[in-house]
Parts: sequence; structure tokens; C-alpha cells
Amino acid sequence: MKFGTKALHAGIEPDPTTGAIMTPIYQTSTYVLEAVGMNKGYEYSRTLNPTRDALQKNLAALENGSQGLVFGSGMAAIDTVMKLLKPGDEVISTNDLYGGSYRLFTTVWQNYGIKFYFDSLMDKDAVRSLVNKNTKLIWVETPTNPMMSIIDIKAMATIAKNAGALLAVDNTFASPFLQNPLDLGADIVMHSVTKYINGHSDVVMGALIVDNIELSKRLYALQNSCGAVPGPQDCFLVLRGIKTLHLRMERHCENGAEIARYLKNQDKVDHVFWPGFETHPNHHVAKEQMNGFGGMISFSLKGNRLQDAKQFTAATKLFALAESLGGVESLIGHPASMTHASIPKEDREKTGVVDSLIRLSVGLENIEDLIQDLEQAFKTI
Ligand SMILES: *Cc1c(COP(=O)(O)O)cnc(C)c1O
Repeated sequence: MKFGTKALHAGIEPDPTTGAIMTPIYQTSTYVLEAVGMNKGYEYSRTLNPTRDALQKNLAALENGSQGLVFGSGMAAIDTVMKLLKPGDEVISTNDLYGGSYRLFTTVWQNYGIKFYFDSLMDKDAVRSLVNKNTKLIWVETPTNPMMSIIDIKAMATIAKNAGALLAVDNTFASPFLQNPLDLGADIVMHSVTKYINGHSDVVMGALIVDNIELSKRLYALQNSCGAVPGPQDCFLVLRGIKTLHLRMERHCENGAEIARYLKNQDKVDHVFWPGFETHPNHHVAKEQMNGFGGMISFSLKGNRLQDAKQFTAATKLFALAESLGGVESLIGHPASMTHASIPKEDREKTGVVDSLIRLSVGLENIEDLIQDLEQAFKTI
């Protein structure tokens, strides 16, 4: 099955009791047994719930995996991956990382004896030099947030395999439509379902997808033991959102490309970070491992003044000033004070998150209206 067909049908059967074509919201915590030891596949909703089951199967299909697991947030999904590790284990991670992941690694898991290295993951030799017998996980996010750098997933998979470590990829920015890390050699794909997968800014959820029975059993045991599961109503909303994922992503890509080119021609813009430009340092890798360049774009302003970034982000009307990304509506963000506020200024500036950097999540509005909105905002600075 091709992507659009999987989005609509994979894992989704008409309801066995009524024939309902839409997976019902099984708003129940427990299930009546026919007799001791005889159930209908469900016992208790932390362990498994039919609405969640359908979503997990659907997500597994979208990422070409065998097993999907969903969690109460993207952070809960990442936290679950970390629980595969033991004190003394080491993790190599990208340094241009989602702020919440950086906070989870450095303020929570570091206290449990896990050691983290943060690197651009651009230079394979530099990554290999960080590997030792304690290396158990390589954590990749690509495209990175917010600098839109592209990390070579296949190259990282080779390094991880040789090190006997797992490769996990946070695929939130690309969505399963644009990138399938399991096909490129990754062991675990993680999504903040909150973003493109659900796409309607009305659910917080996370997911892990794997294609390995042993690993899926370990992660399932953690999901059931630690219990960070989402409720059936949220699973229903995500199933509904996914039905248009392929259509939404096509338009995000089209609008994103138009806006990236528009920004590049603006006098007040210093640099536009978007992997679709041939001048992007890893454009060739993006072209190879992605099916499109998405709707996420960052840009910096000439003069690098905080005041200009504040003014610009306040002046846009269609681009709403808000955290998050990947929804149908366009958002504008200021990484230095928002998503990346928990990263020390010195560290964030090293990776390019300067005071004038602005991040756009280009939505599905009419492209002419979006450009007009940016145009009037530029006039105010
Ligand atoms: C939002 C996000 C997360 C965290 O997901 P939540 O659903 O907010 O917990 C992790 N990684 C990336 C890249 C994100 O954008």
C-alpha cells in the first residue's frame, strides 16, 4: 500500500460489534472477562485499549515498522527510550536539539548516571571519536530545530551498528510522509504526534515505532509499567487527523518552498535556513533521505537585534506567535526566548540560535495571504 492509502486504512477495521467505519472512542478503563483467563484481547486500558490499538497499528504502518506505541506526550515517548538505558551508559546526541529533549537529558537523566555528549553530528569522524564501550544510544533529530540542519541518518546508523548501540531518530519535523528513518537503518523512530501527525493543534501525544520484536517487547513493557499512555479520545482525534496527513504535508511543502524563496529575497533578512535550497550545506543528504523539504523555516535578521525579532513576531497577524508547529495554521516563534529558553545563551548561540532568529511553521492558508502578512511585518522593522 502507498502512503495515502495506509494513512486511511492501515490498522483500521470496521468496529466488530456495530460495523462503525470510524474506530469508536472506547472510553473504558476495564473489560469484563468471559471467565477467569478468558478475555477478548483487552483487560485494562493502561495495558491496551482498542482505540489506541488502532492508532498504534496505523502509525507502525506509516513508518514501515512492525510495532507502534503511543504516549501521553512526545516527552513521555523520549523518556521511555531513555529507560532502556542503565547507569554508566552513554548517549551521543545532536547539539541543535529540541529544548525539551535537552532539558530531559541534562536535568533528569544525567542525575540517573547517564552521560550525554552533544555534537553537530555533521562530521562522522567526530562522532566516531565519541564512541566507546559504554555508548548505548545515538539520538538524532533531523531536520534539526531550529537551524534546519540535516543529519545523515544512514551514516549514523552505520556508526551505531558498529558501536553496538541503538539509533533513535526524532522524526517530528519531517513527519512519516517526508522521512522514514527505519528504512534508513534506525532502530527507533520517535514522533511528537502533537505536531504534523495530528496536525490540528488539539492534542498532545508522542509515539515510538520500531521494526524489531525484542525491542518492541521491551518498549511495550515500559509503556505498560510506567503508564504514560494517552486516553482514547485523543487517539480518536489523531486517527482523524492522520486521514489527511499526506494532503496536508504536500501543501506544507508547497507553501514552505514559496515562503523560503520569498524570505531569501528580502533586504532585511540575513540568512534563511531551509534544506530545499541547493546552497544548504546538506541539501544533497536531504534530497536523498527525504521526500520533500517541509514547512519549517528559520531566518535571521540583518543587524541581529532582539528588538527587531520582537517587533516582527508581534506584527504578523496570520502567523500566530505561539510554541509548537506542524498544525494547519501558520505559527511564528522566537526560539531564543521560547522553545530554546532552557538552553544557556552561550550554548544556543554556538549552534546559531541568535537573538534575531525567527522560526516559521508554515501552515495551509492561501500562500498570497501568508506572503502579504510577512510583507506588512517587514515594513514595521
Ligand atoms: C514538540 C517536540 C517534542 C516534544 O513533544 P511534546 O508532544 O510536546 O511532548 C520533541 N521533539 C520535537 C522535535 C518537538 O518538536
